[in-house]
Amino acid sequence: MASENIVAISTSLGASGVAVIRMSGDSPLSIAEKMFEPVGKVKVGEFEPNKMYVGEIVCDGFKDYGMCVYFKAPKSFTGEDSVEFHCHGGVAITKGVLKRALSLGARLATNGEFTKRAFMNGKLSLSSAEGLIDMINSESVSGVKAGYYLYREKLNSEIAKMQDVLTDVLAEIDADMDFPEEDLETASKKNAKLGLEKVINGITTLLNTFGKGRTVLNGVRVGIVGKPNTGKSSLLNALLNYDKAIVSDVAGTTRDIVEGSLDINGVRFNFSDTAGIRDSQDKIEELGVELSKRILDESDLILFILDGSDVGEEDEKIFSLIKDKNKLVVVNKTDKCKYTDERADVYVSALKKDNLDELRRLIFEKTVGTGIDLNGDFLCEERHYDALCRAKEKLESALGGIDIVSLDVLAIDIKDGWDALGEISGKTATEEIIDNIFSKFCVGK
Ligand code: GDP
Repeated sequence: MASENIVAISTSLGASGVAVIRMSGDSPLSIAEKMFEPVGKVKVGEFEPNKMYVGEIVCDGFKDYGMCVYFKAPKSFTGEDSVEFHCHGGVAITKGVLKRALSLGARLATNGEFTKRAFMNGKLSLSSAEGLIDMINSESVSGVKAGYYLYREKLNSEIAKMQDVLTDVLAEIDADMDFPEEDLETASKKNAKLGLEKVINGITTLLNTFGKGRTVLNGVRVGIVGKPNTGKSSLLNALLNYDKAIVSDVAGTTRDIVEGSLDINGVRFNFSDTAGIRDSQDKIEELGVELSKRILDESDLILFILDGSDVGEEDEKIFSLIKDKNKLVVVNKTDKCKYTDERADVYVSALKKDNLDELRRLIFEKTVGTGIDLNGDFLCEERHYDALCRAKEKLESALGGIDIVSLDVLAIDIKDGWDALGEISGKTATEEIIDNIFSKFCVGK
């Protein structure tokens, strides 16, 4: 099937050392011939695949000195003939290279079109493409690992094994339907039972990793609350400085919320602190609104800060708002008082940076948990979770009815389960699902 030549800037647009402009399609090399002048003797049309050639990239009105590489189909990312120009990373230079390719007949790629073509050409599965976008968008090591697990087809191969089991079960059922002697039917039902149980167990194990997978991919939201002057900002700064992260003031609608991010064991923790609240007149009431709207609803964990040298009624009012949440009660200012509280999880001094390691440990334990393997072998995409839930439902229905229903009815449920699993790799995904996934990509990927 003919495939248009598409082009896009594959690196982010800005001043940088190098930028990459990529083309893919039936004949990108013929475009490159018209805009690349190699310094060596080898002409563009004779370029050896996978080899970088130095030369002049000819744009409208200017030239850049860079490199060009040709990837021959099917041994390219997209599975098509591809060409990359590596130019200097200035905005005008990069756009100039792009415009030149466009004027020579290439079309600007749509979001994710390179990856979509790779998928269409069987170079990667749908879940692998999703892993790729997760990796690109991730700001934490654990998020990258979660994406990599998908990208390298590890989830896909687990799913493929499950589908193989179901295929065998279906084949046996099919054979029995052709020769409906009773003994055979009993034997195939017995095997179907074993196969279904195996697959359902595998699905359940994967489903159980979803909560953690989401946390690891998207990061953990932590809200810091407490009455004014308990040391919330100081504590956030102490935690962030600890990791040399940056605290930024983000303008809220009525006041400032201080936010900052921190890595703990490779997982990203996003903190929000209600520090700006101290200027408010009706503090508790406004704090209540702020808490319910922003912190209480959105946080995975609340840090409730008490000033050990000044605990009173105001603290109790705030505590009543968060007592049923996933929380840590942090008593601050241990450097100047010996206050103890039966609710306390940890005692710290933000000023002296005392016991912050223990606080970090508890934050991690209360959200990600302990004994978790963060190597990415977990479910993190809602779409995969939904597909697995549907597959499990169908297979459980098959298992539940195995001694009651006829073989053909049994086969329908099993086939539906197989199809639901196939959505993950993309084998049975609809065009709508596929388009939706690639629309999340940036242009150039
Ligand atoms: P916030 O209103 O809860 O954000 O509190 P701040 O972080 O602005 O701190 C209020 C005051 O308490 C400031 O003067 C801080 O220097 C002080 N403070 C914060 N943490 C500590 C601490 O651990 N020990 C002592 N002695 N003072 C602290």
